[in-house]
Amino acid sequence: MDETYPNVGCELTYSKDYELVIAVMLSAQTTDTSVNKVTDVLFSKYPTLKELANAPLEDIEDIIHSIGLYKNKAKHVLEITNKLLDEYNGVLPSDKDVLQTFPGVGNKTAGVIRAEIFKIPDLPVDTHILRISKRLKIVGPVATPYETEMKLKKLLPEDRWIKTHHQLIHFGRDICVARNPHCEKCKLCAFCTKK
Ligand code: SF4
Repeated sequence: MDETYPNVGCELTYSKDYELVIAVMLSAQTTDTSVNKVTDVLFSKYPTLKELANAPLEDIEDIIHSIGLYKNKAKHVLEITNKLLDEYNGVLPSDKDVLQTFPGVGNKTAGVIRAEIFKIPDLPVDTHILRISKRLKIVGPVATPYETEMKLKKLLPEDRWIKTHHQLIHFGRDICVARNPHCEKCKLCAFCTKK
């Protein structure tokens, strides 16, 4: 992973911490590229937390309609921004359990936010990391994302968690893709169950 992906990081575009929360929430079941396209418009039109929290729901729906589950996600944009203003004075909390009380924010999203904003070691497991971990027999075929996260955290030192998270996501997007993985380009063939 270090040879192939020496310098990889988060590909979501954001300039403020709450914008990342919104972007990660929007990225469920869609690509970072699609999210960046809609957040570019959303964050330009509503450049502060207060403005975004007061945006009309219909306008948010209109701006983000090209991504999956946009109606629910538009509601979450308003719920997250209003909760942040009302309960936290606009200051994003770093506690993982607290972050998960925000609508649309689960264990994975909270982990991504903590790693990216607060640099707290975490290894959230998305669909790519889950698939790769199963193919490489790091976990069994029916392991959940949470079980996979725990296993990877046990295997890797804490200072590798954030980097490995990004490396595996890139590997899953470029080489170990879901359908017809490019095994001919893969340096992990010797360990793989699928090759
Ligand atoms: S050999 Fe193929 S399926 Fe296995 S890890 Fe590499 S790319 Fe993925």
